[in-house]
Amino acid sequence: MASTIPFFKQVDRYIDRAADLASHPRGLLEQIKLCNAVYHVSFPIERDDGSIKVINGWRAAHSVHKLPVKGGIRLSSKASEDEVTALAALMTFKCALVDIPFGGAKGAIRVEKEEYSDRELERIMRRYTFELIQKNFIGPGVDVPGPDMGVGAREIGWMADTYMAMAPGQVNVHGCVTGKPLPLGGIRGRVEATGRGVFFGLREATGVAEDMEALGLTPGLEGKRVVLQGLGNVGFHACRFLQEAGAVVVAVAEREGAIHDPSGIDIEELVRHRAEEGSLLDFPVKTRIEESISAIELDCDILIPAALENQITAENAPRIKARIIAEGANGPVTVEAHDILAERGVMMIPDVYLNAGGVTVSYFEWLKNLSNVRFGRLNNRFEAASNGRTLDAVETLIGKEFSSSVRARVAVGAREDDIVNSGLEDTMTSAYHHIREAARARKTDLRTAAYFLGLEKVAVAYRERGVFP
Ligand code: NAD
Repeated sequence: MASTIPFFKQVDRYIDRAADLASHPRGLLEQIKLCNAVYHVSFPIERDDGSIKVINGWRAAHSVHKLPVKGGIRLSSKASEDEVTALAALMTFKCALVDIPFGGAKGAIRVEKEEYSDRELERIMRRYTFELIQKNFIGPGVDVPGPDMGVGAREIGWMADTYMAMAPGQVNVHGCVTGKPLPLGGIRGRVEATGRGVFFGLREATGVAEDMEALGLTPGLEGKRVVLQGLGNVGFHACRFLQEAGAVVVAVAEREGAIHDPSGIDIEELVRHRAEEGSLLDFPVKTRIEESISAIELDCDILIPAALENQITAENAPRIKARIIAEGANGPVTVEAHDILAERGVMMIPDVYLNAGGVTVSYFEWLKNLSNVRFGRLNNRFEAASNGRTLDAVETLIGKEFSSSVRARVAVGAREDDIVNSGLEDTMTSAYHHIREAARARKTDLRTAAYFLGLEKVAVAYRERGVFP
């Protein structure tokens, strides 16, 4: 049973709890909570058999305290105005929390992706983009969509191409969307950025010995048992990095069902298998579970919901055994479930922080597009030569030569992926500790603390503009 409270109202509740810790004028809080604009568009597309289908889509710009606004586009049969508005609000607080100078936005197109051919999907994405252009809901300085559920580099590429065709002579044109394929101005590291960010967040959280002790866990990721819901972009990459760090993925839930094996499931092999066979259910493991949702109740240390919102509700929250819930998805824990789990002492690392890796690297992509130069292009060789000269000088000083493997590691310059991953790690690591400190100082949970920090930054932005005293 999903929450009886609409998604947008749930986000509102979290904002209210954060607002109780702050002391801003009521009018300012109301301004921060409301959604600035929602554009609902209906348009026809021609299907491959010649018939016409009317498609519904939305774009919500939640907060324009900073421009452009930013947020993904999802393709989902369950898309609605409530969902888009809630997700746009989450983006406002997410961007503020990790110091990304964007307002929050979100978009969605209501389709069941599997029911459309590639050519039909291309028509849908191009026409949706065209509609956004007509109402100025897309552009490098106004609103910059990116990928979300069901949308990857291919769909974003169609959007970029459509926008570029309509904006001749605009030098910043590539900054109209992020998550683009590399030849269209994309950035290395964006595909795996959200999952990598989830990994960094979990690494920081499990690295605090005192907190792990309170949960009855040992510090570190080594040996931690992970259950994943949603083997998509976020879930797969998060588990790939966690596995590399020694965590053990014991169960994976997907649309078709779930699999469980306490001895561990190789996540890369599973993804290959599912891509070839169309299902994970015949992957060689100990147990298969038909009712996918029940897998989130399995015994584990870390549960990663990385599929849909409203998955952990008042109904199943009492049966959740995980000590840590790492919210890869947006809104996977309802507000009622949050209260039950918080009461039970479960650590919830909130979506508003944990999946911010995607928008962080999207920001880097946008910066790259504005400057029209790849990160590392100007300094890579200079740094490599400079580091090489430092090694030469040390060799002269100590009278010994470094091995070729030491030279290969040290006499290098930063490439684009090095810079992107280092910026992402810095963002996720420092944000985690800010949230933890705020939670301790205000005797609250990580979610309320994360909203509080986001709220403070949005409030300051409005006040600096002189909008509120
Ligand atoms: P995706 O489409 O790549 O993956 C989602 C996966 O969930 C798919 O494999 C899908 O089959 C599976 N799924 C759908 N319904 C399910 C169900 N009932 N049970 C189990 N699995 C189910 O999408 P994604 O980009 O990985 O996004 C997942 C979540 O992460 C969403 O909430 C999204 O808003 C959030 N998110 C994504 C990004 C990003 O960069 N892609 C960034 C921030 C947040």
